[in-house]
Parts: sequence; structure tokens; C-alpha cells
Amino acid sequence: MRPRAAAWLLLSVVAFLVISAGISLRLLHVGLQAVNATTEGRLRAIGQTAVQAVTRGAGADFLSGISRENELEAAYLLDAALRPLGEQGGLSISLLRIDPDRAQRALQGQASVGPAYGLEDVERSSDGAVVLAGYFPVPGSAHRVLVLEAGSAFAALPTRLRASAYSSAAAAVALAALCVVLVVLGLRAARHQEALRTEAARGQAVREMAAMVAHELRNPLGTIRAGAELLAEQAADPTLIHDILDEVRRLNELTTQFLNFAKETPLSIAELDLRELSAEVCAHMARQQAHVDALHIECVGDQAVRLYGDRDRLRQVLLNLTQNAVQAMDGRGELRISTHGLPDGGGELRVADSGPGIRGEQLRALFMPFRTTKPTGTGLGLVVCRRIIEQHGGSIGVATPAVAESAAEKQLSGACFVIRLPARPPTSTSQAASSA
Ligand code: ADP
Repeated sequence: MRPRAAAWLLLSVVAFLVISAGISLRLLHVGLQAVNATTEGRLRAIGQTAVQAVTRGAGADFLSGISRENELEAAYLLDAALRPLGEQGGLSISLLRIDPDRAQRALQGQASVGPAYGLEDVERSSDGAVVLAGYFPVPGSAHRVLVLEAGSAFAALPTRLRASAYSSAAAAVALAALCVVLVVLGLRAARHQEALRTEAARGQAVREMAAMVAHELRNPLGTIRAGAELLAEQAADPTLIHDILDEVRRLNELTTQFLNFAKETPLSIAELDLRELSAEVCAHMARQQAHVDALHIECVGDQAVRLYGDRDRLRQVLLNLTQNAVQAMDGRGELRISTHGLPDGGGELRVADSGPGIRGEQLRALFMPFRTTKPTGTGLGLVVCRRIIEQHGGSIGVATPAVAESAAEKQLSGACFVIRLPARPPTSTSQAASSA
């Protein structure tokens, strides 16, 4: 997905979530207002009925009955001095929660139903708190006020509604956050996939070109070599012609590398011993470098590491890494191949040297094609090595100095390539698997 489209998608999701949250909060607000109005209406109706009964002479028993039936906290009468009248059905009435203003207005004939006096504090107190109070004038010879106090039991509906609305809002916010995180992760994964696809397409194009160039070079090189060999037999001084033949050989090696890079042939799997293979490569390198006294090559690993793999391909990898190491050390220093088994039945190979090591930008570009620091290098050796190891289902990388120091190649200060191979390559990459 393109970054612009991704940004738009993310913006749309966030806008959608914000608008939905706004609409939900608005609906919640309207709903709570409606429920509050209904609760107040209920208290008002009870008050009006009670006033009629009191006017007709009903007393404290009636008030405690109406209080019980409607789950009120209290129902009582106040006199003109705003003092509770009579026994009030055994209820203890806190004078602190009587609202003097509303009581005075009721004495002047104005009824009111609304939040209880000092509601902010009361609401935070324990259950049984008064949340709504009604003040009703009681007509008659003496001025009196009927007070109805409703608590959380009477107003249970809005309280429950508010609690569930808050928890739904919290769940919605969490869900929205989760959606945003999922969208962001999805976009990142899509971008990563896109990068992989581009990389694969670019790699394929480069491989096709390498194959074409190698193919086109092969035939003329063969002709040049045949001609040069013929000329060398007849020439009085064949030195120049031998130089030509050397260059032809080098170009032939180059085309072979190009072809190796271009084609991905299936592995030919058989059981092998990594330690034995390393020893063979060490011996080969020692023979090749026999003329150099200043180079010390050793093979470390005292146990056989048996696993399944393509012997020739793994040998090719080891040869490439050891040749690179010798070149990096300029032919003098220490080279060590160590082998050991892994707990899952696989094996690990380390190729370490005492050369200058690999750092910074060079390290970052290490397995990229055509990145070389050598005048006659191609920068394809490590790419081919990685392809072979990955075909085996393994991994190849360069150990960081800390890791290298803790392992057997402690003293070697240069590069340390680490290869890990599974006990058996994935079946899709193998051509033939021999029986154990
Ligand atoms: P080439 O050998 O043709 O350059 P490679 O892919 O084998 O191609 O190597 C790429 C580059 O990695 C080399 O040019 C070199 O700079 C670096 N390199 C590889 N092995 C080592 C090593 N053991 N020590 C230092 N640098 C190395």
C-alpha cells in the first residue's frame, strides 16, 4: 500500500472513531437527561398525592408508609420555622440536608423537585445517600412543607445507566485504541511486504541480467582462449599471450560466479559431517597457501556434527568465506573454522580471522550483490553463500565482537562469520534425500 493511501486510511479510521465517540457521548447525555426527568416526575407525582393525603389529615404513619413503598430515604413535614414536625415515623432527619431556600419557597407556595442539598458531597458518600429532594407546600391553616428525599434506591436506574455508560465508553475507547494499533500494524506489515516484493523483483531483474551477460561472454571467451593457446604454441615469446590467457581464465571465473548468482538449483541432500567438511576445507586452504609462512589455518571441533545437507554447496560456502578471510588478511594472520552441534540437532560453523574486520557501512551492505572492496571482486560471493545457506533453512551472519569474544575464537580480532544449519533442510529445497 502506498504511504499516501495508508495515511488517508489511518486518518479515516481515526475520524470515524472520533465521530462515533462524539455521537455516543451525545446520545448518552440525552438519555441520562430523559431518565433524570422521569425520576423527577415520579417524585413530583408522589409528592402531589402525599400532599392531598396530608391535607386530608394523614399523619406520620402515612408518611413512613409512602416512604417505604417508594423506596424513599425519608418523607416528613416542616413547620413555618423549618423544624421537623412530630415523630416522623421514627425517622432521624438531618437538619443539615434541608435546603432552606427551597423550603422557604415551598412555604410561599412554590413546589420544587431537584438534586438534594449539597449533592456533590452527598453523592460521594456511601449507599443510602440522598440524591434527589422534593419540597411541596401543604395548604391549610398552618404553613407546612412536605419534604420527600430520594436516595440511590429510588434513583437506581440512572445510577446503573451511568455506570454501564461509563464502562461502555471505557470499552469503546479501548476498542478504538486497539483498532488504531491494528491498523498501524497492518499498514506496517503491508509496507514491509511491499518492500520485500520490490526487493525480490529487483533481485530477479539483476539475476536475469547477470545470466544474460555471463551467457554472452562465455562463447567469445572460448574462442579467444582457443586462439591464444594456438598462438602461444607458435610464438617466439609467449609471455604476452600467457597474460591474455590469465585474463581469459579470470573472466571465465567471473562468468561462473555470475551464473551461480543467477540460477537457483535445487540442493542434493545427503547425510554429512560438518567437522569433516571443515577439516577438508582447512586442508585445501593449507595446501593452497603452503608457500605463505605467515598464515596459520586451524580447524576446531572435537566431535562429529552430523546433519543433512548438500555437501558440494556447503563446501563452496566454506571455500568462499575462507578465501575472503585470507584476502582480507593479505595472506598473513590466523584463520579458524570451528564446528559444534546445536541442541536441536543442527550445527554451527564459525569462520573467524585476524584481519581488519567488517564495520559500519561495509557491514550494512555486506550481503548485497555487487558490493565489493576488491579491485577484481564481483561482490557476489557472499550473496551466493547466503542463498545456499537459506536454501538449507539456515542462517548466516557476522558475529558481533562480544559474541565472538565469548566463543572459541577469542583471540581473533577480525571478522567472524557464523552459519547455523538445521538438522535437515526444508523438503521444498532439496532434490533428493538419502535415507539415514
Ligand atoms: P568479493 O569477494 O567478490 O568482494 P564477496 O561477496 O565475497 O565478494 O565479499 C564482499 C565484500 O565483503 C568483500 O569485498 C569484502 O569487503 C567484505 N568481506 C568479506 N569477507 C571479509 C572478511 N573476512 N574480512 C573483511 N571483509 C570481508
